[in-house]
Amino acid sequence: MFNLVLFGPPGSGKGTQSENIVKSYQLQHISTGDLLRSEVSRHTPLGTEAKKYMDQGMLVPDEVVIGMISSKIDETPDARGFVFDGFPRTRTQAEALDKLLEFKNTKIHLVLSLEVPEQDLIARLVNRGITSGRSDDNEEVITARIKEYHSKTEPVARYYNEHGKLERVPGHNSVPDTFKLLSKHITKYLLPVA
Ligand code: ADP
Repeated sequence: MFNLVLFGPPGSGKGTQSENIVKSYQLQHISTGDLLRSEVSRHTPLGTEAKKYMDQGMLVPDEVVIGMISSKIDETPDARGFVFDGFPRTRTQAEALDKLLEFKNTKIHLVLSLEVPEQDLIARLVNRGITSGRSDDNEEVITARIKEYHSKTEPVARYYNEHGKLERVPGHNSVPDTFKLLSKHITKYLLPVA
């Protein structure tokens, strides 16, 4: 099994690159943002609770997200590996993920951090808000999300760096060029299928 965390601030391109990675390497994509949005649109109790936080640009409580991830991992026991996108976002989530994977006799092998200058991030997110209709892509909520990122999510990069798993990758180039840079790191562990 090969398990990857794609790390980076909101708007850094994690979703787009995850799609490319899972196709090329036949891995299972787990995006907590997508899972939460699906809960919200289906009006589940979890979705109703999560929406309160998401609409304010705040992180959803750890226990909600960790429970969701745990059942998602269990859905595909034969997976070649997972790409975690938008998770873990706090140190507590990172520690919980290590425990979940240890229980399955596996681990996080690599963490790729997409590095994009802050002014590019805001421009990308505002632009996405116009085309995607995502309710959290307006300037006020974006600012809150970036603030949450700095205070709660950046420590996750330190956590993985201390474990020798973090690689920083520039994310301001085109989608295919960024994919090439990410692939260079992944192919040290796994060869592409497609
Ligand atoms: P982006 O990375 O572009 O901000 P996401 O789709 O990953 O967007 O997340 C959207 C929102 O969903 C976040 O602002 C947060 O409220 C919630 N969310 C997603 N993943 C997590 C997580 N791992 N922990 C807590 N909240 C999360």
